[in-house]
Amino acid sequence: MSSNFEPLVYLNFLSSEKIDKVIYLDRDGVLLKPVIREEEISSARIKLEVCIYDDVETFGREAKSLGYTLVVVSNQPDISRGIVSKTFLKWTNRKLSEVIPIDYYIYCTHQASMNCMCRKPKIGMISYFRSIHMSKGASEIMVGDRIVDYQLAQKIGIDFILRNQTYNCSIDSAVNFLNVPRINNLNDIWTIIKDVRC
Ligand SMILES: [Zn+2]
Repeated sequence: MSSNFEPLVYLNFLSSEKIDKVIYLDRDGVLLKPVIREEEISSARIKLEVCIYDDVETFGREAKSLGYTLVVVSNQPDISRGIVSKTFLKWTNRKLSEVIPIDYYIYCTHQASMNCMCRKPKIGMISYFRSIHMSKGASEIMVGDRIVDYQLAQKIGIDFILRNQTYNCSIDSAVNFLNVPRINNLNDIWTIIKDVRC
């Protein structure tokens, strides 16, 4: 990967220890309420648009008590478009971190036309994370709201959980997520994980 096409990474957790349980979380539509702009799903561009779901805090606390590392994996093409600054991205990280103890924020800042290695559904962001921190046989789960999240999980062979949104429940979209476990509330993840593992 050339340096222009590496994911952008912010660490809150500095450790040389290998991680054996991780939940990858999409940001917009999973932790933050989605922003719909001209009928397109978009990301927050101003502070007022950053709205964290009410269930995030309890979920984060439980995840930590169960020993999970929490990794945000998110496409943020507005950065390379010059619409959103890295300062704003970091401000958003800080807002989220006040509510949930995210260990890593990994962002693809590129647009589709740039053909980087990290833009979901490509696997670059998770490959990067795995290459640095994962133990062999580690347990990984991904939570997302869009088809690119699910495709990424399928490509790397990990369990996927879909957070319900109006745009993934329509008849057109639902067909893409056949047999995928769905949640309305992040705290329902634990029931699903138990079912998957037992
Ligand atoms: Zn990228």
